[in-house]
Amino acid sequence: MSIPIAAPDVGLGGLSELIETVETERLADGPRVRAFEAAFADYCEQSHGVATANGTTALHAALRGLGIGPGDAVVTTPFSFVATANAIRLCGAEPVFADVDPTTLNLDPEAVREAIAAHDGEVSAILAVHLYGLPAPMDELRSVADAHTVPLIEDAAQAHGATQAGTPVGALGDVACFSFYPTKNMTTGEGGMVVTDDQTLADRVARFVNHGRTGTYEHGDVGHNFRLTSLGAAIGLQQLERLDDFVAVRRRNAARYDEALADQPAITSPPDPDGVRHAYHQYTVQCGARDALEEQLADAGIDTGIYYPTPIHRQPAYADVDASAPVAERAAEEVLSVPVHPDLGRAEVERVADALAGFEP
Ligand SMILES: *Cc1c(COP(=O)(O)O)cnc(C)c1O
Repeated sequence: MSIPIAAPDVGLGGLSELIETVETERLADGPRVRAFEAAFADYCEQSHGVATANGTTALHAALRGLGIGPGDAVVTTPFSFVATANAIRLCGAEPVFADVDPTTLNLDPEAVREAIAAHDGEVSAILAVHLYGLPAPMDELRSVADAHTVPLIEDAAQAHGATQAGTPVGALGDVACFSFYPTKNMTTGEGGMVVTDDQTLADRVARFVNHGRTGTYEHGDVGHNFRLTSLGAAIGLQQLERLDDFVAVRRRNAARYDEALADQPAITSPPDPDGVRHAYHQYTVQCGARDALEEQLADAGIDTGIYYPTPIHRQPAYADVDASAPVAERAAEEVLSVPVHPDLGRAEVERVADALAGFEP
Protein backbone atom coordinates (compact mmCIF):
# COMPACT_ATOMS: atom_id res chain seq x y z
CA MET A 1 0.00 0.00 0.00
CA SER A 2 1.33 3.43 -0.86
CA ILE A 3 1.74 6.23 1.67
CA PRO A 4 -1.42 8.37 1.38
CA ILE A 5 -1.28 12.13 0.88
CA ALA A 6 -3.95 12.76 3.56
CA ALA A 7 -4.61 10.99 6.84
CA PRO A 8 -7.09 8.14 6.30
CA ASP A 9 -8.11 8.24 9.97
CA VAL A 10 -9.22 11.60 11.30
CA GLY A 11 -8.69 10.49 14.90
CA LEU A 12 -12.08 11.00 16.49
CA GLY A 13 -10.81 10.23 19.97
CA GLY A 14 -13.52 9.64 22.58
CA LEU A 15 -16.45 7.99 20.86
CA SER A 16 -18.37 8.22 24.14
CA GLU A 17 -18.56 11.99 23.68
CA LEU A 18 -20.21 11.50 20.31
CA ILE A 19 -22.62 8.90 21.66
CA GLU A 20 -23.54 11.28 24.48
CA THR A 21 -24.16 14.05 21.94
CA VAL A 22 -26.49 11.81 19.96
CA GLU A 23 -28.30 10.69 23.10
CA THR A 24 -28.64 14.00 24.93
CA GLU A 25 -28.54 16.83 22.42
CA ARG A 26 -30.56 18.15 19.55
CA LEU A 27 -28.54 17.13 16.54
CA ALA A 28 -28.56 20.69 15.22
CA ASP A 29 -28.11 23.95 17.14
CA GLY A 30 -27.30 22.10 20.36
CA PRO A 31 -25.13 23.52 23.17
CA ARG A 32 -22.03 21.87 21.72
CA VAL A 33 -22.25 24.12 18.66
CA ARG A 34 -22.11 27.19 20.91
CA ALA A 35 -19.31 25.60 22.96
CA PHE A 36 -17.27 24.84 19.82
CA GLU A 37 -17.74 28.39 18.53
CA ALA A 38 -16.50 29.81 21.84
CA ALA A 39 -13.57 27.38 22.11
CA PHE A 40 -12.38 27.86 18.53
CA ALA A 41 -12.67 31.66 18.70
CA ASP A 42 -10.71 31.55 21.95
CA TYR A 43 -8.00 29.43 20.29
CA CYS A 44 -7.75 32.14 17.61
CA GLU A 45 -7.65 34.86 20.29
CA GLN A 46 -10.88 36.33 18.90
CA SER A 47 -14.04 37.14 20.83
CA HIS A 48 -16.60 35.68 18.40
CA GLY A 49 -16.97 32.47 16.41
CA VAL A 50 -19.80 31.49 14.08
CA ALA A 51 -19.87 27.83 13.03
CA THR A 52 -20.87 27.04 9.45
CA ALA A 53 -21.60 24.01 7.29
CA ASN A 54 -18.18 24.12 5.59
CA GLY A 55 -15.34 26.45 4.67
CA THR A 56 -16.98 27.73 1.51
CA THR A 57 -20.05 28.87 3.41
CA ALA A 58 -17.80 30.43 6.07
CA LEU A 59 -16.22 32.60 3.34
CA HIS A 60 -19.60 33.34 1.77
CA ALA A 61 -21.11 34.37 5.12
CA ALA A 62 -18.10 36.50 6.09
CA LEU A 63 -18.23 38.36 2.77
CA ARG A 64 -21.98 38.89 3.09
CA GLY A 65 -21.50 40.01 6.70
CA LEU A 66 -19.10 42.67 5.41
CA GLY A 67 -21.79 43.80 2.98
CA ILE A 68 -20.01 42.49 -0.13
CA GLY A 69 -22.44 41.95 -3.01
CA PRO A 70 -23.17 42.76 -6.65
CA GLY A 71 -20.97 45.53 -8.02
CA ASP A 72 -18.18 44.84 -5.53
CA ALA A 73 -14.67 43.64 -6.42
CA VAL A 74 -12.55 41.58 -4.02
CA VAL A 75 -8.79 41.23 -4.52
CA THR A 76 -7.57 37.69 -3.98
CA THR A 77 -5.03 35.08 -5.09
CA PRO A 78 -5.50 32.93 -8.18
CA PHE A 79 -3.36 30.23 -6.57
CA SER A 80 -5.78 28.62 -4.12
CA PHE A 81 -8.58 26.11 -3.96
CA VAL A 82 -11.41 27.34 -6.20
CA ALA A 83 -13.70 27.86 -3.18
CA THR A 84 -11.87 31.11 -2.35
CA ALA A 85 -13.02 32.73 -5.59
CA ASN A 86 -16.34 30.89 -5.71
CA ALA A 87 -17.36 32.46 -2.40
CA ILE A 88 -16.79 35.92 -3.93
CA ARG A 89 -18.89 35.08 -6.98
CA LEU A 90 -21.62 33.41 -4.92
CA CYS A 91 -22.08 36.78 -3.19
CA GLY A 92 -22.57 38.40 -6.59
CA ALA A 93 -19.19 40.14 -6.41
CA GLU A 94 -16.21 39.74 -8.75
CA PRO A 95 -12.72 38.45 -7.92
CA VAL A 96 -9.73 40.57 -8.93
CA PHE A 97 -6.73 38.26 -9.10
CA ALA A 98 -3.32 39.54 -8.00
CA ASP A 99 -0.23 37.40 -8.55
CA VAL A 100 1.66 35.51 -5.86
CA ASP A 101 5.19 35.64 -4.52
CA PRO A 102 7.42 33.03 -6.23
CA THR A 103 8.86 31.75 -2.94
CA THR A 104 5.89 31.71 -0.56
CA LEU A 105 3.21 31.31 -3.25
CA ASN A 106 1.05 33.61 -1.10
CA LEU A 107 -0.35 36.95 -2.33
CA ASP A 108 2.38 39.40 -3.29
CA PRO A 109 1.49 42.75 -1.61
CA GLU A 110 3.04 44.69 -4.51
CA ALA A 111 0.86 42.79 -6.98
CA VAL A 112 -2.14 43.57 -4.78
CA ARG A 113 -1.27 47.29 -4.93
CA GLU A 114 -1.00 47.09 -8.72
CA ALA A 115 -4.26 45.16 -9.07
CA ILE A 116 -6.09 47.79 -7.00
CA ALA A 117 -4.54 50.60 -9.05
CA ALA A 118 -5.54 48.85 -12.28
CA HIS A 119 -9.07 48.74 -10.86
CA ASP A 120 -8.97 52.52 -10.24
CA GLY A 121 -8.90 51.88 -6.49
CA GLU A 122 -12.47 50.58 -6.69
CA VAL A 123 -12.22 47.42 -4.60
CA SER A 124 -14.22 46.43 -1.53
CA ALA A 125 -11.97 43.94 0.30
CA ILE A 126 -8.74 41.95 0.22
CA LEU A 127 -9.07 38.20 0.73
CA ALA A 128 -5.73 36.54 1.57
CA VAL A 129 -5.15 32.78 1.71
CA HIS A 130 -2.58 31.20 4.03
CA LEU A 131 -1.60 28.67 1.39
CA TYR A 132 -0.42 25.23 2.58
CA GLY A 133 -0.53 26.56 6.18
CA LEU A 134 1.98 29.39 5.69
CA PRO A 135 0.62 32.75 6.87
CA ALA A 136 0.31 35.34 4.09
CA PRO A 137 2.30 38.61 4.60
CA MET A 138 -0.44 40.14 6.72
CA ASP A 139 1.48 43.22 7.93
CA GLU A 140 2.05 44.44 4.39
CA LEU A 141 -1.43 43.46 3.28
CA ARG A 142 -2.80 45.36 6.27
CA SER A 143 -1.00 48.51 5.07
CA VAL A 144 -2.54 48.11 1.62
CA ALA A 145 -6.01 47.46 3.09
CA ASP A 146 -5.72 50.47 5.41
CA ALA A 147 -4.56 52.71 2.56
CA HIS A 148 -7.81 51.92 0.74
CA THR A 149 -9.92 51.56 3.92
CA VAL A 150 -11.13 48.11 2.96
CA PRO A 151 -11.38 45.04 5.21
CA LEU A 152 -8.71 42.34 5.18
CA ILE A 153 -10.15 38.81 5.22
CA GLU A 154 -8.24 35.62 6.00
CA ASP A 155 -8.99 32.36 4.20
CA ALA A 156 -7.38 30.24 6.91
CA ALA A 157 -8.88 26.94 5.66
CA GLN A 158 -5.38 25.41 5.48
CA ALA A 159 -3.74 27.12 8.41
CA HIS A 160 -5.33 26.18 11.77
CA GLY A 161 -2.52 26.34 14.31
CA ALA A 162 -0.18 28.58 12.28
CA THR A 163 1.09 31.80 13.85
CA GLN A 164 2.82 35.01 12.78
CA ALA A 165 4.94 36.82 15.38
CA GLY A 166 3.16 34.72 17.99
CA THR A 167 -0.31 35.77 16.83
CA PRO A 168 -2.52 32.94 15.59
CA VAL A 169 -4.02 32.99 12.11
CA GLY A 170 -7.61 33.99 12.61
CA ALA A 171 -6.42 37.06 14.51
CA LEU A 172 -4.34 38.56 11.66
CA GLY A 173 -7.18 40.14 9.65
CA ASP A 174 -10.54 41.75 10.32
CA VAL A 175 -12.31 38.42 9.97
CA ALA A 176 -11.10 34.88 9.25
CA CYS A 177 -12.65 31.76 7.75
CA PHE A 178 -11.75 28.14 8.46
CA SER A 179 -12.69 24.77 6.96
CA PHE A 180 -12.92 21.51 8.89
CA TYR A 181 -12.99 19.17 5.90
CA PRO A 182 -11.30 15.79 6.69
CA THR A 183 -8.06 16.64 4.86
CA LYS A 184 -7.53 19.92 6.79
CA ASN A 185 -5.42 20.32 9.94
CA MET A 186 -8.46 19.44 12.07
CA THR A 187 -11.90 18.19 11.05
CA THR A 188 -15.59 17.98 11.84
CA GLY A 189 -16.37 16.00 8.67
CA GLU A 190 -17.95 18.90 6.83
CA GLY A 191 -17.73 22.15 8.77
CA GLY A 192 -16.37 25.66 8.94
CA MET A 193 -16.02 28.69 11.18
CA VAL A 194 -15.91 32.48 10.93
CA VAL A 195 -13.97 34.23 13.71
CA THR A 196 -13.69 37.95 14.42
CA ASP A 197 -13.31 40.50 17.19
CA ASP A 198 -16.05 42.64 15.63
CA GLN A 199 -19.33 42.04 17.47
CA THR A 200 -21.50 43.72 14.81
CA LEU A 201 -19.92 41.67 12.05
CA ALA A 202 -20.26 38.44 14.06
CA ASP A 203 -23.96 39.18 14.61
CA ARG A 204 -24.49 39.77 10.90
CA VAL A 205 -22.68 36.55 9.98
CA ALA A 206 -24.62 34.55 12.60
CA ARG A 207 -27.85 35.95 11.20
CA PHE A 208 -26.92 35.21 7.60
CA VAL A 209 -26.12 31.54 8.32
CA ASN A 210 -29.49 31.14 10.04
CA HIS A 211 -32.11 32.49 7.60
CA GLY A 212 -31.58 36.14 8.53
CA ARG A 213 -33.34 35.32 11.74
CA THR A 214 -33.79 38.20 14.20
CA GLY A 215 -36.37 36.56 16.50
CA THR A 216 -38.74 33.59 16.58
CA TYR A 217 -40.05 33.46 13.03
CA GLU A 218 -38.88 37.01 12.48
CA HIS A 219 -36.39 37.55 9.66
CA GLY A 220 -34.61 40.87 9.28
CA ASP A 221 -33.11 39.97 5.94
CA VAL A 222 -32.74 37.05 3.56
CA GLY A 223 -30.22 34.51 4.79
CA HIS A 224 -29.20 30.92 4.22
CA ASN A 225 -29.08 27.78 6.27
CA PHE A 226 -25.31 27.35 6.58
CA ARG A 227 -25.36 25.79 10.06
CA LEU A 228 -22.98 23.18 11.51
CA THR A 229 -24.50 20.07 13.14
CA SER A 230 -24.11 19.30 16.87
CA LEU A 231 -22.25 16.09 16.02
CA GLY A 232 -19.80 18.09 13.93
CA ALA A 233 -19.29 20.45 16.85
CA ALA A 234 -18.72 17.52 19.25
CA ILE A 235 -16.01 16.17 16.91
CA GLY A 236 -14.58 19.67 16.54
CA LEU A 237 -14.26 20.14 20.31
CA GLN A 238 -12.21 16.94 20.52
CA GLN A 239 -10.12 17.77 17.48
CA LEU A 240 -9.36 21.26 18.76
CA GLU A 241 -7.79 19.78 21.90
CA ARG A 242 -5.44 17.80 19.69
CA LEU A 243 -4.73 20.52 17.11
CA ASP A 244 -1.44 21.69 18.63
CA ASP A 245 -0.19 18.09 18.71
CA PHE A 246 -1.28 17.54 15.11
CA VAL A 247 0.59 20.67 13.99
CA ALA A 248 3.68 19.75 16.04
CA VAL A 249 3.87 16.37 14.25
CA ARG A 250 3.36 18.03 10.86
CA ARG A 251 6.23 20.39 11.71
CA ARG A 252 8.46 17.55 12.87
CA ASN A 253 7.82 15.64 9.62
CA ALA A 254 8.50 18.83 7.63
CA ALA A 255 11.78 19.42 9.48
CA ARG A 256 12.91 15.92 8.48
CA TYR A 257 12.11 16.65 4.82
CA ASP A 258 13.91 20.03 5.01
CA GLU A 259 16.99 18.17 6.25
CA ALA A 260 16.71 15.59 3.46
CA LEU A 261 16.48 18.38 0.87
CA ALA A 262 19.42 20.42 2.18
CA ASP A 263 21.76 18.78 -0.37
CA GLN A 264 19.20 18.26 -3.14
CA PRO A 265 19.73 20.94 -5.80
CA ALA A 266 16.84 19.79 -8.01
CA ILE A 267 14.12 20.46 -5.43
CA THR A 268 13.24 23.70 -3.61
CA SER A 269 11.86 23.08 -0.12
CA PRO A 270 8.96 25.20 1.17
CA PRO A 271 9.88 28.44 2.99
CA ASP A 272 9.65 28.60 6.79
CA PRO A 273 10.38 32.28 7.48
CA ASP A 274 11.57 33.59 10.85
CA GLY A 275 8.82 34.63 13.20
CA VAL A 276 6.28 32.38 11.52
CA ARG A 277 4.94 29.01 12.60
CA HIS A 278 4.06 27.21 9.36
CA ALA A 279 1.28 24.69 10.01
CA TYR A 280 2.31 22.49 7.05
CA HIS A 281 -1.18 21.63 5.91
CA GLN A 282 0.87 20.56 2.89
CA TYR A 283 4.60 20.10 2.49
CA THR A 284 4.90 21.49 -1.01
CA VAL A 285 8.17 21.58 -2.93
CA GLN A 286 8.90 23.30 -6.21
CA CYS A 287 10.70 21.29 -8.86
CA GLY A 288 11.40 22.08 -12.51
CA ALA A 289 11.30 18.33 -13.23
CA ARG A 290 8.01 17.86 -11.39
CA ASP A 291 6.74 14.97 -13.53
CA ALA A 292 9.92 12.97 -12.96
CA LEU A 293 9.73 13.63 -9.22
CA GLU A 294 6.10 12.56 -9.11
CA GLU A 295 6.99 9.37 -10.96
CA GLN A 296 9.98 8.47 -8.79
CA LEU A 297 7.96 9.02 -5.63
CA ALA A 298 5.13 6.87 -7.02
CA ASP A 299 7.68 4.13 -7.78
CA ALA A 300 8.75 4.35 -4.13
CA GLY A 301 5.12 3.87 -3.06
CA ILE A 302 4.50 7.49 -2.09
CA ASP A 303 1.33 9.33 -3.06
CA THR A 304 1.72 12.98 -4.02
CA GLY A 305 -0.67 15.80 -4.80
CA ILE A 306 -0.63 18.84 -7.06
CA TYR A 307 -2.25 21.81 -5.34
CA TYR A 308 -3.17 23.29 -7.73
CA PRO A 309 -2.63 22.15 -11.32
CA THR A 310 -4.67 25.06 -12.73
CA PRO A 311 -4.73 28.58 -11.25
CA ILE A 312 -8.28 29.82 -10.71
CA HIS A 313 -8.09 32.47 -13.45
CA ARG A 314 -7.35 29.64 -15.92
CA GLN A 315 -10.38 27.59 -14.90
CA PRO A 316 -13.22 27.45 -17.44
CA ALA A 317 -15.54 28.85 -14.75
CA TYR A 318 -13.40 32.04 -14.66
CA ALA A 319 -12.65 32.30 -18.39
CA ASP A 320 -14.37 35.71 -18.45
CA VAL A 321 -12.01 37.21 -15.86
CA ASP A 322 -9.15 39.26 -17.21
CA ALA A 323 -6.05 38.42 -15.16
CA SER A 324 -2.31 38.18 -15.54
CA ALA A 325 -0.55 35.98 -13.00
CA PRO A 326 2.58 34.44 -14.56
CA VAL A 327 4.06 33.45 -11.19
CA ALA A 328 0.95 31.45 -10.27
CA GLU A 329 0.96 29.85 -13.71
CA ARG A 330 4.56 28.73 -13.38
CA ALA A 331 3.96 27.49 -9.82
CA ALA A 332 1.05 25.35 -11.06
CA GLU A 333 3.57 23.49 -13.22
CA GLU A 334 6.24 23.03 -10.55
CA VAL A 335 4.53 22.38 -7.19
CA LEU A 336 4.29 18.91 -5.69
CA SER A 337 3.04 18.00 -2.22
CA VAL A 338 4.26 14.94 -0.33
CA PRO A 339 2.56 13.25 2.66
CA VAL A 340 3.21 15.25 5.88
CA HIS A 341 0.05 14.51 7.90
CA PRO A 342 0.22 13.38 11.54
CA ASP A 343 -0.90 9.82 10.75
CA LEU A 344 2.47 8.98 9.17
CA GLY A 345 4.68 6.49 10.99
CA ARG A 346 8.38 7.16 11.49
CA ALA A 347 9.35 4.61 8.83
CA GLU A 348 7.01 6.27 6.36
CA VAL A 349 8.53 9.70 7.02
CA GLU A 350 12.00 8.21 6.47
CA ARG A 351 10.85 6.65 3.20
CA VAL A 352 9.58 10.01 1.93
CA ALA A 353 12.78 11.76 3.12
CA ASP A 354 14.98 9.16 1.40
CA ALA A 355 13.01 9.41 -1.84
CA LEU A 356 13.33 13.22 -1.85
CA ALA A 357 17.07 13.10 -1.10
CA GLY A 358 17.65 10.41 -3.74
CA PHE A 359 15.72 12.08 -6.54
CA GLU A 360 17.60 12.27 -9.83
CA PRO A 361 15.97 14.40 -12.52
C1 LIG B 1 -10.71 23.66 1.73
C2 LIG B 1 -10.62 25.08 1.37
C3 LIG B 1 -11.76 25.89 1.27
C4 LIG B 1 -13.17 25.37 1.31
O1 LIG B 1 -13.50 24.62 2.41
P1 LIG B 1 -14.67 23.52 2.29
O2 LIG B 1 -14.88 23.13 3.73
O3 LIG B 1 -14.18 22.42 1.44
O4 LIG B 1 -15.88 24.20 1.73
C5 LIG B 1 -11.59 27.24 1.02
N1 LIG B 1 -10.36 27.76 0.85
C6 LIG B 1 -9.24 27.02 0.91
C7 LIG B 1 -7.92 27.68 0.73
C8 LIG B 1 -9.33 25.64 1.16
O5 LIG B 1 -8.22 24.91 1.20
